[in-house]
Amino acid sequence: MDRDRRADDAADHLIRLLETLECDCDGCGGTGRTLNAQWREWQQRGTELVAVAHAARRAHELRPAQVTGIVPDGIGGEPAIFAVVERAIADHMRARPAEPEETACEACGGTGRQLTHAGHLFTDLLARHGFVRKR
Ligand SMILES: [Zn+2]
Repeated sequence: MDRDRRADDAADHLIRLLETLECDCDGCGGTGRTLNAQWREWQQRGTELVAVAHAARRAHELRPAQVTGIVPDGIGGEPAIFAVVERAIADHMRARPAEPEETACEACGGTGRQLTHAGHLFTDLLARHGFVRKR
């Protein structure tokens, strides 16, 4: 019984030690995947276009003339800016990057984990004794 408990305590101690040797990767936040740079730019541009569309819509809706109905709307009841923004969004959707959206994180090789300072010390020790291969 004591031997089982000692073994369990040793295992718990080892697990806690191993947890101090690595942490989530800074490059991918622990997911092991990173968003392609072209996709990131494409998504950011899309977000900006949507914000422009919302701002144009809001500005149009808040016009005093629109509220009072004194000044009639332009052609089709909407200003030309809406057509410009819609065309920009359509062009943007067609310009979707051809590359995969995500790739394996280069920093961690897709594991999502990286060595802590203690982890580096430990692997350095193991390398000195020929147990691990340094990258
Ligand atoms: Zn990573």
